[in-house]
Amino acid sequence: TLPDPSAGAAVKAADRAHVFHSWSAQGLIDPPAVAGAEGAYFWDYDGNRYLDFSSQLVNTNIGHQHPKVVAAVQEQAGRLCTIAPGFAVDVRSEAARLVAGRTPGDLDKIFFTNGGAEAVENAVRMARLHTGRPKLLSAYRSYHGATAAAINLTGDPRRWPSDTASAGVVHFWGPYLYRSPFHATSEEEECARALAHLEDTIVFEGPRTIAAIILESVVGTAGILVPPAGYLAGVRELCDRHGIVFILDEVMSGFGRTGRWFAADHFGVTPDLLTFAKGVNSGYVPLGGVAISAEIAATFDRRPYPGGLTYSGHPLACASAVATINAMAEEGIVENAARLGEDVLGPGLRALAERHRSVGEVRGMGVFWALELVKDRATREPLVPYNAAGEAAAPMNAFAAACKKSGLWPFVNMNRTHVVPPCTLTEAEAREGLAILDEALTVADTHTV
Ligand code: PLP
Repeated sequence: TLPDPSAGAAVKAADRAHVFHSWSAQGLIDPPAVAGAEGAYFWDYDGNRYLDFSSQLVNTNIGHQHPKVVAAVQEQAGRLCTIAPGFAVDVRSEAARLVAGRTPGDLDKIFFTNGGAEAVENAVRMARLHTGRPKLLSAYRSYHGATAAAINLTGDPRRWPSDTASAGVVHFWGPYLYRSPFHATSEEEECARALAHLEDTIVFEGPRTIAAIILESVVGTAGILVPPAGYLAGVRELCDRHGIVFILDEVMSGFGRTGRWFAADHFGVTPDLLTFAKGVNSGYVPLGGVAISAEIAATFDRRPYPGGLTYSGHPLACASAVATINAMAEEGIVENAARLGEDVLGPGLRALAERHRSVGEVRGMGVFWALELVKDRATREPLVPYNAAGEAAAPMNAFAAACKKSGLWPFVNMNRTHVVPPCTLTEAEAREGLAILDEALTVADTHTV
């Protein structure tokens, strides 16, 4: 379709008049009007086309408008649009079977939700009822969603305004060698010290008061922090020793993002509960869920589970999940993400770090990467301060603007840019994106010492 700026202006005017946006001062935003999207690209009404290195909110793992997923939603809409959760229905049964077939270990029962935060809410409710204990442990530098328990579990500034409802949540430090909270100098040291710190936290909080430990298998929004080998296994062991439920939040890291179906697969660890959303159907219709171990599921064999949602296992959402998972398997999309990470994005981003003094660290796997930008490589001072806003965030805003000007939509968080394109990205698209990042980083370089 031809660009039509007047149509775009009308979309924006109605948006500004009536849409109340997430996380924003309503009078200070100017949401870009999107006219369409396909694969790894979306475009506006003015003729600008963007290579989406954010996958929207890191959820379009299969890219936009995948024909098999679109057809499946259309077909399901023609057959059965909605049905209450209390019925057994073919498409929900099949979605649950496909998810359970990919989750690790004995996580074979699926409770469907409408998204990630609700998955986290229900996982912690299950853990508390299963253990009869009140407390929850979660990491600083984490994001678990914006509903009551999920936002309290979150370990970034989005929690602060909503923290009054916090009941029984205790935060601890996870491993992060580049800015080690433990003054460690190697991955092994970081791993051992992070586990010792977690054990101390458990002991001082009282092991018998702790229902669950929740962690992102690879921390997403808070920095793409890949845990050192042995960390997740160490947490598993601590949980087993103290009768604590281990919850892995794979809302962002699941369904191909790291080059495996789940990030936990890289570490050979099976949690008791695993939360998912985003990539399960790339957000074509809202869907999330909790994969539940046999032991926890058995708690609710004779005792009702006190939780539910009108749209749990919604047919349109489940149809899109079935088509997404099948297409990802048939087309080798998870393997594509792994290969891109190993052969193109990893080496390409490391090469950028060599050329640009603003890049302090490159880390990630699959299509899940972060460039940590710094003022000074020696001191590792971040390019902008933690939680910077307004003028203080100007260097990162200038970097993001340079990306957009050249047709790349970046994912920027604090002093980092995350490289999180769809798992379906081609090598040519990856190289196109790397070239734009190369150019935009020269802007970041001007803010270094
Ligand atoms: N958990 C993780 C790890 C996430 O990254 C997110 C969203 O970014 C959530 C939970 C919340 O998911 P939703 O926004 O679908 O509620």
